Amino acid sequence: MTVYSGPVFDMAVNQFGVIANHLAIPMDERDRLLLPKRAITISCPIHRDDGSIAVYEGYRVQHHLTLGPTKGGTRFAPSVDIGEVAALAIWMSWKCALVGLPYGGAKGGITVDLSTISKRELEALSRRYMQEMIPFVGPHIDVMAPDMGTNEQVMAWFMDTYSMYQGRTVTEIVTGKPVSSGGTLGRREATGRGVAHLAKRVMNQLSINLNNATAVIQGFGNVGSYAALDLQRFGLKVIAVSDHTGALYDKAGLDIPGLMQHTAQHGSLAGYSNQLACDPATILTMPCDVLVPAAMERVIDAETAQNLKCRVLAEGANGPTTPEADLVLEKRQDEVFLIPDILCNSGGVVVSYFEWVQDLQQLFWEEEEVMRREYQILDRAFDTMAARAKADGISHRTAAMAIGVEKVRAAKTTRGLFP
Ligand code: GLU
Repeated sequence: MTVYSGPVFDMAVNQFGVIANHLAIPMDERDRLLLPKRAITISCPIHRDDGSIAVYEGYRVQHHLTLGPTKGGTRFAPSVDIGEVAALAIWMSWKCALVGLPYGGAKGGITVDLSTISKRELEALSRRYMQEMIPFVGPHIDVMAPDMGTNEQVMAWFMDTYSMYQGRTVTEIVTGKPVSSGGTLGRREATGRGVAHLAKRVMNQLSINLNNATAVIQGFGNVGSYAALDLQRFGLKVIAVSDHTGALYDKAGLDIPGLMQHTAQHGSLAGYSNQLACDPATILTMPCDVLVPAAMERVIDAETAQNLKCRVLAEGANGPTTPEADLVLEKRQDEVFLIPDILCNSGGVVVSYFEWVQDLQQLFWEEEEVMRREYQILDRAFDTMAARAKADGISHRTAAMAIGVEKVRAAKTTRGLFP
């Protein structure tokens, strides 16, 4: 029995089962690797603008403590529950291990529909969340970051709340902060940049001419928008983008800086253009060279996987592809090159790590240095993943996850039963 349930948690369990079988991990060792070490549930009361009190439920799951502090984002969304947060924490563990960061995985969140609260209420909720988490986090215990529904401002409120409690400024308590408050250059762009960098690498490998290539992006938040921007800079036409309000299509290529300006001002793609509007249901199966799912988990099921018409599937979101879809994609490996989520979107946590290191040392780097080191880590992880997939005759996802799981397992084995 476990407190974790739901389709996203089941997916993380299912994926781990595939890896554990591949690595022939003994049955009695599996729960130890998979089940989160700690899960914290809190209630966050705030005063609404009308003077009434509302209570929101929040979570934080710290998956394992074997390699150092835990690390991962904080999600403010209606879908947030303990099962989803646990799955995302587990994926963070494999991701951090794959790219060689000294962290276990974590994730947290609040079940809230942001369209129903004001900016003042968001600040109160963010501060209250951190306040309730103070006994369980710390720069060497658990370091939060942004995820869906949170941003630099929310991280600044987290950092400020923690710092006021400590009586001094503790920038290293969270990452993804504004540069003006101890953030690093290049963190805002890091995830999307990494996605575009790896997609470009694969296109070069497949001899796809970037100047004739097209991209489709699902999700136009921090990850999708910066991935689109860089892909456009590399010469691709971004022919379609979507978010929760709708989708836009232009076969001549959309104006990505213009769209980013619009979403910064209005909060979504809605209202940008009626002429370019298209059916969001068609986004994932549009013919294109690069498809970037950068929204929710579980958007590519077996049927969609069968109908994908991209050459490269660059997973910007966490868990966008179901295990059933993975089976289809394994058969279509020669048609669709998969860059699995824990590699493809790892630029975010890699640069979060750089931010943490800089805050601890109070020594800040130029943006070029941040980018150079980010790409170096991503390229090395990509090479290791590709070599492993080839050597063992396994899918890219199985290879990436196997490397992550193996590293955590090795540390647990050498340390003993405690961590
Ligand atoms: N939320 C992001 C992720 O899922 C970033 C986590 C971090 O920077 O710690 O990878």
